[in-house]
Amino acid sequence: MKMKTSLRLFLLVAVATCAAGKPLSKAADRNKLLLVSFDGFRWDYDQDVDTPHLDQLARDGVKAKYITPPMLTMTSPSHFTTITGRWVEDHEVVHNMMFDPKTNLKLPHKQTLKQSKWWDNGVLPLWITAQNQGLKTASFYFPGGAANYSGQAVDRVRVTDAGHPDDNETEWRQNIDTVMSWFADEDFDLVTLYYGEPDNVGHAHGPDTPDRKRIIRQIDRTVGYLRDAIGRHRLNDSLNVIITSDHGMTTVKKRPQVDEIVLNKYLNLLKLVSFEILDYGGFGILTPRPGREQEVFDALSGAPNLTVYRKHQLPESFRLAKSQRLPPIVVVADLGFNLNSRFIVYVNKGDHGYHNGEMDMKMIFRAFGPDFKKNFVSGPFDSIHIYPLMCKVLQIEPAPHNGSLEQTQDLLLHSGGGSQRGRLSAALLLLLITSTLL
Ligand SMILES: [Zn+2]
Repeated sequence: MKMKTSLRLFLLVAVATCAAGKPLSKAADRNKLLLVSFDGFRWDYDQDVDTPHLDQLARDGVKAKYITPPMLTMTSPSHFTTITGRWVEDHEVVHNMMFDPKTNLKLPHKQTLKQSKWWDNGVLPLWITAQNQGLKTASFYFPGGAANYSGQAVDRVRVTDAGHPDDNETEWRQNIDTVMSWFADEDFDLVTLYYGEPDNVGHAHGPDTPDRKRIIRQIDRTVGYLRDAIGRHRLNDSLNVIITSDHGMTTVKKRPQVDEIVLNKYLNLLKLVSFEILDYGGFGILTPRPGREQEVFDALSGAPNLTVYRKHQLPESFRLAKSQRLPPIVVVADLGFNLNSRFIVYVNKGDHGYHNGEMDMKMIFRAFGPDFKKNFVSGPFDSIHIYPLMCKVLQIEPAPHNGSLEQTQDLLLHSGGGSQRGRLSAALLLLLITSTLL
């Protein structure tokens, strides 16, 4: 009788636990996740190059036709949207350049990586949310990974030095070996791994050049190396991998093909503007001097090949208007036009920062591993929906975010490892046993 009571009690507790959605055994069925980002990998870069490893990946996993980055289509803002699931207006990393309009300070991407004041604006990235739920995470060169969030650091961080070459294939492989040993030997659950290519080559030579095809072949070999490394470390059954990017790339239009944009032709920047970030691709920001906002807006409204916005009038689809940090005037150039301030100083042959609706700004998405479907081609989606997908795969509660799992759960074999459905059937089975026994 006593035994029967304890059995009944045990079963009831077990049923209640399962029904409450708690994993049956702590993380026993949780798989690991590697997020890889190749900066500036336009969605169609693999279509005019022989890429056997990426092709094999599509057969062994999931491929989206393309995915759409947030406005604005730059490295830091877009990566931070992927890792937080928040729009740029919420996470406030509103340029690739850290800036302070009060001091006129401007710091480029690679110098901002350890500057928490640029990244930590009250939104928690996935690393921290996962760590708070008992997972072990690491960031290898990933934008935002080296900052502290509410005083918390990512468990393990590697930061690239400004000026360090991004295209060394041997180093790419060493980095993969390092990450694999973190997963296999030190039981890390989540690692984000960043590569600076093909962005650099896209800028320096242009997207439609033999140089870009060369770097895509190098990336393809690296994907092959990654898959071998996963096998060597016996991680095939426990590691999910997402490969994506932050934006695309377009060929910069120059004279004599077009008349290039020089903003100082339309307004006296020195007289009317107290702070500006121009000369960086298709997206620019300006702070007018006090009382001169209307004048600046009117002057730029008449300029060809660009659209000028007051911050509070930005289209809702940009998801930028609520930002506190964004200056009052935003300019977006037509595709391929660079925003020059006073002189045409920008020598890039390719660039980004343009409207995220432009096909040239779209980027790749691939995924494979135990929780993903095989040979599955998904329709396009916004990169913001990667965040809830990652949380699902890692079986953690997401922080508040703007993504939707409905947009990405089709990629999963059974809506994620240790699924709700699995837990429900376990609960039903236990209920059945309980009623039979008691
Ligand atoms: Zn770039």
